Amino acid sequence: RILKRQMLCRNDIDRLNAPFLAIYDSLIPAEEEKAKQKQLLTLLEKLVCKEWPKARLYLYGSCANSFGVSKSDIDVCLAIEDADINKSEILLRLADIFQSDNLQNVQALTRARVPIVKLMDPVTGISCDICINNILAVINTKLLRDYAQIDARLRQLAFIVKHWAKSRGVNETYQGTLSSYAYVLMCIHFLQQRRPAILPCLQEMETTYSATVDDIECAFFDQVEVLRNFGSCNKETISQLVWAFFNYWAYRHDYANSVISVRTGSILSKHAKDWTRRIGNDRHLICIEDPFQTSHDLGRVVDKHSIKVLREEFERAAYIMQYDPNPCVKLFEPY
Ligand code: ATP
Ligand code: MG
Repeated sequence: RILKRQMLCRNDIDRLNAPFLAIYDSLIPAEEEKAKQKQLLTLLEKLVCKEWPKARLYLYGSCANSFGVSKSDIDVCLAIEDADINKSEILLRLADIFQSDNLQNVQALTRARVPIVKLMDPVTGISCDICINNILAVINTKLLRDYAQIDARLRQLAFIVKHWAKSRGVNETYQGTLSSYAYVLMCIHFLQQRRPAILPCLQEMETTYSATVDDIECAFFDQVEVLRNFGSCNKETISQLVWAFFNYWAYRHDYANSVISVRTGSILSKHAKDWTRRIGNDRHLICIEDPFQTSHDLGRVVDKHSIKVLREEFERAAYIMQYDPNPCVKLFEPY
């Protein structure tokens, strides 16, 4: 009976393409929202350049990596070259400047892991976090955006996965689950691994873009226009990919030994990275290598309790995709 149900489900899976694509469409930010983000960035640039004429502002994170859903906050990086820069002083000065210009809820969080100023613009209604000289985040934003242009299925899959993770409460790094950035890397890696591959490995190709930040060499192929047909031999649809993604993380990933690596387009061993023991708070219970800071495991926030929560959620999602008559509702049910 189970076999029969399974086979039925496999044949039925493509019926879910339309509802998944409808969910995806409903999450895409409207052009109007993008325009408002630009408007806010222009205002901030004007204010910042009055004080530091050489400073530049960059958007990063989901408002710039093409994985942002509508009504997201925006992440901004202030790039400022100053030999003896004191981040806290700059953040406090920024907060003063913004407050005097009637921006609201202005707060300088100088002691956070990534120190920021937060604010809300009453004109556009957009909230924003501004950090200083986080250039690696600006570059990994570009890498993600470049991957998104190669095959439309990446953006579809990542939107569905992020929407699932937010609905199920497993997108909370301070509670030991994964960041949006980690989920997008999981999706990229997954599509690199399909056979035929849906995505290439940009960091293993000829270098057309490079930058060195804090002694880290960031190099990859960024002429992605020429890769638009890369995944066309693979005909898998979004519903098949959602099914396979959850199946992979529920039953196929080797949590004890494997590290997923977008940088190499492959799976590395924990042993080779020396990620087999807990060191400090890095437990390496699910291992996701950062594409540039390769000693950095994005799964390091996950602990003994939250790994269980996470794996149970992957199993729940895989079960729903396999057996539930109405997966597009059940998958996203609030926890
Ligand atoms: P959301 O839509 O949930 O806001 P997001 O893409 O903005 O998604 P965040 O997790 O808020 O994701 O991270 C913002 C950006 O900060 C990421 O896109 C990435 O550039 C950078 N980032 C976040 N976490 C890390 C990390 N652990 N290491 C390096 N860069 C990171
Ligand atoms: Mg964000």
